[in-house]
Amino acid sequence: MGKKSIGILGATGSIGKQALEVIEEFPDRFSVEFLTAKSSVQLLVEQAKKFSPKYIVVSEEEQLDVLTAAIGDTDIKIMAGEAALCEVASLESVDLLLSAIVGFAGLKPTLAALEKGIDVALANKETLVVAGAMVMDVAKEHGAKIIPVDSEHSAIFQCLQGEAPDTVEKIILTASGGPFLDKKPNFLKNVKKDHALQHPNWDMGAKITIDSATLMNKGLEVIEARWLFGLDPEQIDVIVHPQSIIHSMVQFSDGSIKSQMGLPDMKLPIQYALGYPNRITNNFKRLDFKEYRKLKFKEPDIKTFRNLALALKALEDGGNSACVMNAANAEAVYAFLENKIGFLEMTEIIENTMEEIPFVEDASLDAFVESDREARKCALRLIKEKR
Ligand code: NAD
Ligand code: MG
Repeated sequence: MGKKSIGILGATGSIGKQALEVIEEFPDRFSVEFLTAKSSVQLLVEQAKKFSPKYIVVSEEEQLDVLTAAIGDTDIKIMAGEAALCEVASLESVDLLLSAIVGFAGLKPTLAALEKGIDVALANKETLVVAGAMVMDVAKEHGAKIIPVDSEHSAIFQCLQGEAPDTVEKIILTASGGPFLDKKPNFLKNVKKDHALQHPNWDMGAKITIDSATLMNKGLEVIEARWLFGLDPEQIDVIVHPQSIIHSMVQFSDGSIKSQMGLPDMKLPIQYALGYPNRITNNFKRLDFKEYRKLKFKEPDIKTFRNLALALKALEDGGNSACVMNAANAEAVYAFLENKIGFLEMTEIIENTMEEIPFVEDASLDAFVESDREARKCALRLIKEKR
């Protein structure tokens, strides 16, 4: 069996770093074709020295000098900009693209890979949130597989192995509830970023950690699941399961339910996606049920955490709605992280942006780019008005 050559978009992020740990563990199975990053150029240099990719790509031309000084004497080709991201993502020498950029910026390079029939291990859920129908069509047309990295979707994907798709009655996405589970608006209106960044179970990048605290992450995941598994919105349930032991479930047409479980550690779904269709033996810590005598479940409180309700509405409305919501959410989250707006104001920004931006039913890629830009502009104006 030859080595699988992996290209990583977003190598310096939480998912990118953990993927490289997996790759380092199994040098006989994987090689690294390219690495990309927007920030943490120093870390990118260290990663390049360790994994000897053929290419590295940074976002800004100005970052090239640092890279040339550090690794200009190697065979690694150094590039910058969005076009370069798409170029490496669609290299024929890539067996599997790990799409682990955060946000809308992941869409174009992910599409570029799929258009070349390259399989994608998808962490960048925003790609499916923004343009799910288009992305799935392109994958199908070019015979590319999309293997989920998001833990819930990896769980469902694993439960579906060997099952006929038409026997799925519904899926049940589990949500940890984040750091503010059971909290009410009078508490939430005063919370600050330091508290919101403390997720009880998962150690992740800043944006997704805030999304988890607002439940927007679960909203994004419902939309992600709708496209990934070709389900109707009514076939997707969300249940709060604070321990994050059950990573999600599938209920079949005979009432049987399958779940995938394990300790909450993103390296497991990352490893599964990189290794698919093979399972790779590892020595990760094992789950001991004696330490979890009671698994707990409860309804999500969508009256308090209204972002989840907004995402369900965007899914129902279709067209460019989820794209607009995603853009407004990203700007709201970054403004919250800069202490410019309060926790509950994030929801207001998203809701008002969704009301303002015109609806486009059949959006093309250009229309998504335009909707994303306009929604960000609108959200930034609304954020300014709050200050
Ligand atoms: P992160 O912020 O830690 O890392 C993002 C990576 O993308 C970095 O390498 C960064 O330099 C790069 N990047 C950021 N903006 C970019 C841009 N505009 N253009 C090019 N590159 C850019 O994020 P993360 O937590 O690793 O999450 C990555 C994706 O995976 C997100 O879509 C997130 O929702 C999803 N995800 C993450 C986790 C997790 O545990 N971290 C779990 C499930 C899903
Ligand atoms: Mg998830």
